[in-house]
Amino acid sequence: MADLDASRELPQSLQEIASCVNGYDPTSLPVAQAQEFIARLVPKVQAVEMLALRSALGRVLARDIVSTFNVPAHDNSAMDGYALRGSDLAVDADTVLMVAGSGFAGQADLVSAARGQCVHIMTGAVMPAELDTVVPQEFVSVDGNRVTIPTGIVRTGDNRRLKGEDLAQGDAALVAGRVLRPADLGMLASLGQAEVPVFRRLRVAFFSTGDELRSIGEDLPAGCVYDSNRYTLWGMLARLGVEIIDLGVVRDDPAALEATFRAAARDADAVITSGGVSVGEADHTKMVMAKLGEVLFWRIAMRPGRPMAIGRISTGKSADGHSAILFGLPGNPVAVMVTFYALVRDALLAMSGAAAQPMPLLRAASTLPMRKKPGRTEYQRGIVTRAADGAGFEVRITGAQGSGILRSMSEANGLVVLHHAQGNVAAGELVDVLPFDGLV
Ligand code: AMP
Ligand code: MG
Repeated sequence: MADLDASRELPQSLQEIASCVNGYDPTSLPVAQAQEFIARLVPKVQAVEMLALRSALGRVLARDIVSTFNVPAHDNSAMDGYALRGSDLAVDADTVLMVAGSGFAGQADLVSAARGQCVHIMTGAVMPAELDTVVPQEFVSVDGNRVTIPTGIVRTGDNRRLKGEDLAQGDAALVAGRVLRPADLGMLASLGQAEVPVFRRLRVAFFSTGDELRSIGEDLPAGCVYDSNRYTLWGMLARLGVEIIDLGVVRDDPAALEATFRAAARDADAVITSGGVSVGEADHTKMVMAKLGEVLFWRIAMRPGRPMAIGRISTGKSADGHSAILFGLPGNPVAVMVTFYALVRDALLAMSGAAAQPMPLLRAASTLPMRKKPGRTEYQRGIVTRAADGAGFEVRITGAQGSGILRSMSEANGLVVLHHAQGNVAAGELVDVLPFDGLV
């Protein structure tokens, strides 16, 4: 796409990128190396648009937002109570003060209080001059205008919110690259920002390949399966907030494949395909990918997953033709999802302009032993629950783990990540789990 790459030096060739990745071996590529390669490959969207605050939820902030004033703008009370001078508090006796007046939130003309006086103040009301402490009203006894404060109940500075303690003038309130969450919208609102600069949405095209695939609504002859990958991919992409271009199922026909790849390279920043990249594939997908761009075919040291194509494809018409990053994922339904989470998700976020934010891992005790060969990363589908004793989490694997068994993914609430160098896991041993759901 036109505005990708704009601020970058000329894109490196895939061979140049490979030479920067330590331990690069396309026939057995560790997940970490594949991730590093992809991070070096993908360009970042440059175009910026201004959006109304609410529409910016989930979008990537394109510029730092610097606070032009202090939030809060004045010292103010954190409680309903009595504002006083800390220096008026008696050391070893109750303090008695006279009420000089009241202060309410939003009130501009402030009551002044002389020594020995206090102000009845509400939460959020500006602190009157020279008063630095608030005693909550439930701690005092009041008799007419006399307020008695028990000794030791409050210290100087208590229950006072300081000017600028939330956002100080000149501070970067939010930094470019942030994926905007509900709290961020609130912060921007507290700065009075009606509009926010965000990167334009990344455009991601995807399609399925395979003569055996049928779309929902079509007949299902013997030997055929319904295309499920387009739905899992749609779901994962929708969650990332990218613009989705669904190009359907493409038959195993070179002309149809080529036309679809060209359309994808023209309209999208990234193209995701599923199927047709395994070693034994008899179809034309790999051939057409190789023809339309610079594409590598990897065997990744992971399970499920393994075969994957990566590179750039272009419309091919001229030197200024558009190009898109290609992620050619394996066809098996679980492998598609796992390779997406392991290798594509972060890359699409980076292309969208988002700052890298590693997904948080939980530590959970495996209920059963697990066999694991060092030298590849394994992703097992697991169900995480709170441990019976209430301390920490435990995880059990969802039934059969075949890479075609989508049910194992649907039943799971997280992926157990057995790392590259890790060996067998004993029952009760702690393992890393990537939870599927988070709070924000
Ligand atoms: P492939 O990677 O093309 O060799 O496909 C591996 C397995 O995944 C085969 O059993 C395919 O039928 C199956 N498969 C490929 N694409 C899809 C899809 N879009 N939906 C469901 N199953 C698929
Ligand atoms: Mg196939």
